[in-house]
Formats: sequence, C-alpha cells, structure tokens
Amino acid sequence: MSTIDNLPPLRQVINDHDLVARKSLGQNFLLDLNLTAKIARQAGDLSTADVLEIGPGPGGLTRGLLAEGARRVLAIEKDSRCLPALAEIAAAYPGRLEVINGDALEVDPLAHLTPPIHIAANLPYNVGTELLVRWLTPQEWPPFWQSLTLMFQREVAERITAKPGSKAYGRLALLAQWRAEARIVMSLPPEAFTPAPKVSSAVVHLRALPEPRFPADPKMLERVVAQAFNQRRKMLRAALKSMAPDIEDRLNAAGIEPTRRAETLSLEEFCALARVMSAA
Ligand code: SAM
Repeated sequence: MSTIDNLPPLRQVINDHDLVARKSLGQNFLLDLNLTAKIARQAGDLSTADVLEIGPGPGGLTRGLLAEGARRVLAIEKDSRCLPALAEIAAAYPGRLEVINGDALEVDPLAHLTPPIHIAANLPYNVGTELLVRWLTPQEWPPFWQSLTLMFQREVAERITAKPGSKAYGRLALLAQWRAEARIVMSLPPEAFTPAPKVSSAVVHLRALPEPRFPADPKMLERVVAQAFNQRRKMLRAALKSMAPDIEDRLNAAGIEPTRRAETLSLEEFCALARVMSAA
C-alpha cells in the first residue's frame, strides 16, 4: 500500500521498531496518515514557517506536517525508542526535520527555530495542559508562536473554548481567549488512536492575537481568575475577599454586582476587575 510520502505505513513502522505503546508516556498513536495530514492542514500554510512538534512518537503527525509542506519541523520526543523511526523520516525529507530526544517541559526549543513559528502536537495527556498554560503565559506578548494546533481530550478542548455561563468555563478559557482566538476544528473518536483511549479527543486551533482583547496586567488577571474560580460556587464578594478587604467597592467600581459568581463574568469584566485590583 502506498502512503502520502512513500515511507512505510505506520503500523509497519511500529512493528519494525517494536514501539509498544507506553501508558506512562501518554502514548496513543495516530496511524492514519490521511488523518494526520488533515490535522496538519488545520495549522494553515506552513510552507514559510518552522513547526515545533511535541511528542512525535512514531511520526504520524510529523509526516503529515512535512507532506503538507512545512518548511522545517523541530520535534521533541522523550521516548528514545522512537528515534530510529524518526531518523528514517528525517532522511526522506533532507534538512527539514530535526529531532531532540528530551522532555518538552525542560528543553528550550527557541535556539533551534526561526520565526514565524507554529506549534502542532498530539500532546501527551499528562503534560498537555501544563505546556498550553506555559505557551499562553509568556513574559512578553506577542509570544514566540503564531498558532497552536493541539490535540486534547474533548473535555479539555471544551474548557479551552468555553463561553461564560457554561460548566466548562474557567481559568483555561480565560487564559486562552484573552490573547488568542481559540476554536475546536476537529473531533476524533477513541478508535482513531492505537491503543484507543477511553475518551474522545478534539483538535483545538489557537491563533495569537497581536494584542490582548482588553487591557489588564497579566499577573493580576491570572490571580483574580484563579481565585474567583477556586471557589466558583461562591459569590464573588466572598470568593475574592482574601485579595482585598474592600472587595465589594472594587467589584462595584468595575461595574460588577458583588453577588455574581465567577462563571457569569465575561472576559471583558474579568479584565475590568483586574484593572481595578491593580489600582492602589
Ligand atoms: N504524535 C504521535 C501521534 O500522533 O501518533 C504520538 C502522540 S502520543 C499521544 C504522545 C507522545 O508524546 C508520545 O510519543 C510520548 O512518548 C511523547 N511524550 C510524552 N511525554 C513527553 C514529554 N514530556 N516530552 C516530550 N514528549 C513526550
């Protein structure tokens, strides 16, 4: 059977290199190269961009990204068993794939990348949210990346894209939507993966905005949001009491009824509250 790149089918790659999936590394592989090419297309035109991929595994998404024309891919993989399979892909795409064997939470990829940079990954579930939060909270905005195209458990994808008033609405939605546009672009059933996980997955595409939608100090906004949702069932005047003794006045100054609850506040209202909280 021919593939999108004339390399062997992924099932054969996995057999040849004995890549038995390890649960501890969150390994659920995508074996359908048409599907991985479709995910790669969600990232947009990559022909003039470098792509950072976390957790390439046997290389399904890596091959999708390269076949779809990515200028260069830098892939960070913790499992050294995957390196020979990835080396075969690098040989088929001379000069376009660099692989780092390491932990994505520890490796600094920036020295290896040339802007514009896009990030694409079928993330290991155990580190996915932590990486996303890091990418969303850099020291400076705009960040080093222009877009993120990321696979998550469906439930996490819904938390990233949630709107006020929904159960999924919280810290992740506000962090993501303050300075980026976030949408679910694909849904995948458990059977799309080998081995099949227990839950469905979804691909989220986030595009960095040049500036925040509303002004606020990032640290203060994070604090207010974390504190408000820490006790999400409480009224804000109680949930935020420990942040300022005059919290009722501050809520009123931001135009927010002190009896409201965190999940009813829009992004704009959270930013207004963060500004009032930053004032002396
Ligand atoms: N991209 C492949 C695919 O779509 O078939 C594999 C996806 S699998 C869900 C997650 C991959 O991330 C695995 O290959 C795993 O070894 C790797 N991984 C897990 N933790 C990692 C970490 N901290 N840093 C880098 N890679 C990691």
